[in-house]
Amino acid sequence: MQLRKQFPNSGLIEVWRRSERWKQFRLTILKRDLWACKMCGRALVTGRKPKASAVVDHLIPAHLRPDLFFEAENNRSVCKGCHDGPCQSIEAKHGRDEEAIKAAKMSWHPGGYDAQGFPLDPSHPWNS
Ligand SMILES: [Zn+2]
Repeated sequence: MQLRKQFPNSGLIEVWRRSERWKQFRLTILKRDLWACKMCGRALVTGRKPKASAVVDHLIPAHLRPDLFFEAENNRSVCKGCHDGPCQSIEAKHGRDEEAIKAAKMSWHPGGYDAQGFPLDPSHPWNS
């Protein structure tokens, strides 16, 4: 808890995001999670545009806990659809409440799938 006070601001986070260390770390997280979205379960792909693009998400956002930036346990693989959808909504809803954000992300569930494996929840990012 003391550690975070040593980190000044989001400028450092941006430097980290572009760093070789992050590229390598990100790959270890994606491999650990078998390139599957931990929120909706879909297989992740490379690239930035597809909704299934791999994103490594900080459970507790980096701007709240920069000291957890490179902590494997605070990172997990999600798809761009989940990252831009439920993850962002959860972070917006809970503001600076670190534990509430983490708990909401961990417990979020797309609400079941049809026979083809598509989510039934109309608010699921695949259906938007
Ligand atoms: Zn997903």
